[in-house]
Amino acid sequence: MTNRTAFITGASRGIGRACAVSLAEAGARVAVAARSLDQLEALAGWLRDHGREAFAVAIDMSNADSIKEALAKTAKDFGHIAILVNNAGITRDGLAMRMKKEDWDSVIATNLTGAFLAIQHVLPAMMRERWGRIINISSVVGEMGNPGQANYVASKAGLIGLTKAIAQEMGSRNITVNAVAPGFVETGMTEGLAQELKDNMLGHIPLRRIGRPEDVAAAVRFLASEEASYITGHVLDVNGGLHM
Ligand code: NAP
Repeated sequence: MTNRTAFITGASRGIGRACAVSLAEAGARVAVAARSLDQLEALAGWLRDHGREAFAVAIDMSNADSIKEALAKTAKDFGHIAILVNNAGITRDGLAMRMKKEDWDSVIATNLTGAFLAIQHVLPAMMRERWGRIINISSVVGEMGNPGQANYVASKAGLIGLTKAIAQEMGSRNITVNAVAPGFVETGMTEGLAQELKDNMLGHIPLRRIGRPEDVAAAVRFLASEEASYITGHVLDVNGGLHM
């Protein structure tokens, strides 16, 4: 993927950051996007210090105008986007019976609608170039369900459906669209969970460890590579065997 431009949402920390580092190591020019511009500038500076090409851009995935602006700015100042990693995601957990509509709306807007809008914006250039890689970060719970996360699970299952629909629409244009479904990964998103819950989870993971952001990044890097050119519409589980 040397010299191809990759745009990674939610790259300020966690899995997105690991994806940016891994894609940069593989030779991609990486545009790192999230709301926290300071963290993105620090990451981009660190990547440039290591001889990579990096571009930091603010984006709010819950805001259609912000998505449009960030992608347009990146394409103009850094080059057309060949690889899109829809990684930004949030949780607003609660039992469905008591879930506030705003918590439903904000999770669907950020995790699912934002990803769809980003895909819409990058497709024309990918179609022109007859080359593209779209990778959506779903979740094991999008496949299994999870109590207390109806909004999040719906968004992650939605991403799987979105992946398959766009894969079918874009196959003839040499654009592959895949999802990665991480299991339990040690990041800011999971650090607040009770130790008891984490210990219980470990008992259900055949590989007997919690995932690292780099485990997910390796899958993303593969799906973005030339070697993955005959894989589309696939959901790649990176979950230590938690769900098979
Ligand atoms: P994280 O550490 O909480 O990071 C989330 C990232 O998303 C941050 O960079 C955050 O940056 C960004 N983000 C949140 N809201 C945003 C918005 N409105 N606009 C733009 N960026 C936004 O979470 P993570 O664990 O790395 O998760 C990354 C992805 O993996 C998510 O889609 C998550 O659902 C998925 N996942 C995680 C796990 C896990 O166990 N950790 C498991 C399965 C799937 P700013 O706050 O700077 O905007």
